[in-house]
Amino acid sequence: MAFAKLEYIWLDGYKPTQSLRSKTKIVKDFSGKLEDCPEWSFDGSSTLQADGSSSDCLLKPVAIFTDPEIKNGYLVMTEVLNADGTPHESNGRATIDDEDDDFWFGFEQEYFLMDPETKRPLGFPLNGYPEPQGPYYCGVGGQNAFGRAFKDEHLDICLDAGLNVEGTNGEVAAGQWEWQIFAKGAQSAGDQIWVARYLMERLSEKYGVYIEYHPKPMGDTDWNGSGMHANFSNEYIRTAGSKEKIEAVCEAFRPVVDEHIAVYGAHNEQRLTGEHETQSIDQFSYGVSDRGASIRIPIYTATHGWSGYLEDRRVASNADPYKVAARIIKTVKTVTG
Ligand code: ADP
Ligand code: MN
Ligand code: MN
Ligand code: MN
Repeated sequence: MAFAKLEYIWLDGYKPTQSLRSKTKIVKDFSGKLEDCPEWSFDGSSTLQADGSSSDCLLKPVAIFTDPEIKNGYLVMTEVLNADGTPHESNGRATIDDEDDDFWFGFEQEYFLMDPETKRPLGFPLNGYPEPQGPYYCGVGGQNAFGRAFKDEHLDICLDAGLNVEGTNGEVAAGQWEWQIFAKGAQSAGDQIWVARYLMERLSEKYGVYIEYHPKPMGDTDWNGSGMHANFSNEYIRTAGSKEKIEAVCEAFRPVVDEHIAVYGAHNEQRLTGEHETQSIDQFSYGVSDRGASIRIPIYTATHGWSGYLEDRRVASNADPYKVAARIIKTVKTVTG
């Protein structure tokens, strides 16, 4: 291989929700290894990350995957640094305090596939609504599933890239889908979510659709919003062995509701209403198998000697998994050290 194409991916400085950016670097006789990815830079004044007068931001490669769709291609996830090498304020990954990869995360990414002409989800007519919710969740058939070819092709690309996708499913609303990615290590989980999102964005160009990450795209109607449930554990939770210890972890989340909601995605108040399998944004609760709770204790955890994992259901589809993981780790560590 003479010329490798390295797609450097980063998060821009847009608020309240950061977007993906990328550009391609050609490297001759590339080894395929992360340590051989050169540091690079970009014009931060075009991405709300720097002033025009001192515009350079640095890209620090942190994870690499093969790009199944590009000849000699690689996907290089990067962190944004200031010109002096310190983490940029938009860099959520650098705030994760999990040196030993004690924390495991499984994120469930929900999203809507949108028609650019109607600006409505696939399956929604220009005016009015399709049949009410009910048949769409894990549904099959042309009247129930809208965009399956896209969902399946994205899955294949992710698997070929080496991302640890654990499953996909049709969701409760028409045109709404989900995939799950699991990783041991919070930074790796975040890297893989962002690269999977990148591949989804790129695939949307080919299909003439776009991805809607807004947590409540259909507004105040009887249609579900989109979340990104964060399933998490550390050694303490995986081996807790008692209801009291699991509940102590849940209780640690109660006094810091605002700090969590602050990084769980913009416009989440439209989704966390207490309806559609959510808890209200101003309430906090937890319970076994409770899909109306803030934190669900999965039946697995309760029936495996109170050892396993927890699910924070409040996280919205547009959240940054790095910032979510960083905040969950901070809270859990107040109990588990
Ligand atoms: P549901 O839709 O019922 O909420 P999913 O099957 O979609 O559940 O997602 C559950 C997620 O939990 C998966 O991504 C899985 O990898 C993750 N998970 C399972 N065990 C653990 C664990 N010990 N620590 C962290 N995440 C876990
Ligand atoms: Mn799920
Ligand atoms: Mn779901
Ligand atoms: Mn879930």
